[in-house]
Amino acid sequence: MREIILVKYGEMALKGANRSTFEDVLIRNIRFRLKKLGKFDFSKAQSTIYIVPQEKDDQRYGELLERAMERLRKVFGIAALCRAMTCEKDFADISSRAIPYLREPLTAAKTFKVEAKRADKSFPMKSPQICAELGGIILEAYPHLKVDVNTPDVTVTVEIRDTHAYIHAAREKGAGGLPVGTAGNAMLLLSGGIDSPVAAYMMAKRGVRITAVHFASPPYTSERALDKVHALCEKLTPWCGSMAFYCVPFTEIQEELERSCPEEFFTILMRRLMMEIACRLAKEEQCGAIVTGESLGQVASQTLPAIACTDAVADMPVLRPLIGMDKTEIIEISRKIDTYETSILPFEDCCTVFTPRHPKLRPRLDEVEEIQAEVDFAPLVDKAVAGAEKKVFAQHISEGDV
Ligand code: ATP
Ligand code: MG
Repeated sequence: MREIILVKYGEMALKGANRSTFEDVLIRNIRFRLKKLGKFDFSKAQSTIYIVPQEKDDQRYGELLERAMERLRKVFGIAALCRAMTCEKDFADISSRAIPYLREPLTAAKTFKVEAKRADKSFPMKSPQICAELGGIILEAYPHLKVDVNTPDVTVTVEIRDTHAYIHAAREKGAGGLPVGTAGNAMLLLSGGIDSPVAAYMMAKRGVRITAVHFASPPYTSERALDKVHALCEKLTPWCGSMAFYCVPFTEIQEELERSCPEEFFTILMRRLMMEIACRLAKEEQCGAIVTGESLGQVASQTLPAIACTDAVADMPVLRPLIGMDKTEIIEISRKIDTYETSILPFEDCCTVFTPRHPKLRPRLDEVEEIQAEVDFAPLVDKAVAGAEKKVFAQHISEGDV
């Protein structure tokens, strides 16, 4: 008998009729996520997915288990996960395995309790009896321990399931949210900054599959700036899954803006053109929304009037998951998802290259539209859309990920 991984789903267990779709998507995402590690067997029962490495060698088996746990911690839709020891559905087998298996956590603890979950009601002992008897056996084996049913250092769980029983003592919280792919697709405007990768993470957490679009203005923006955005995509795949990415050539549009539009309207016009192009690509990719990393009031283009001017050109919902967050909160998440160090690399972005000295803080839509109408941007927009280069970041090749 060996250890296996138990994955429990959270929120999605509440989804009634949709539940089986959610389960199927979650299992599919997990399969993809673990594919490159080795062979695993998957099964599901009672809101739990059982993951068993298919490996004979003990050491390799243990490594696979550890690396799978590492990856599973980043899979949305998982509420909790743990490593668990498999036992026969027999109390003597359960208790004799529990004592050595739990040595490490129980030696380090001062207090513990036992919880029993009896999914198989034909098991001859009831839950309180399992708890009392196993609790007694543990106390005998580890006499330094005391029982504390309210705030124990360690909770030993015994689950009596269909074919086997399982013991575990280190249930961890999972990434939470909903499985990526259950809430449709959205097109993310991905800059090289701190915010937009966090926005991707937030929407992926709500089950949205992310496609990204980046606007590059070579030679004003460098190849290294683009490499940085590629690196961000790779860093996002453990959370978002495989991700399609478009790089849009934006130089001509920016040069035209600089040539023919008043400087103070520069940023807002640029954002409207980005939005228009993003919406066009979004439709090609069957996306139902646009996602940006904007946060209210953070910079000139993120005031309510500026947002209204940008949204006026969008013909689908624009989601701004960071809108009410402080920069410090955003940074905290970017550190957690490991995009921060890449985001702060100092390469110029197209927005920073063409920043007006005094951007208009309260642009009026009629005024902005009037100015934009003086130039025929349509051919430039068509050209940018046609020139967009697509690249796919597959999740299993993520750099820095185990
Ligand atoms: P970020 O940290 O995400 O770059 P920011 O605080 O620098 O955001 P802005 O530069 O005003 O703010 O950009 C706001 C949002 O517009 C970004 O979060 C991103 O969604 C989008 N965006 C900005 N520049 C680009 C770009 N070059 N390509 C694609 N999207 C962009
Ligand atoms: Mg930026």
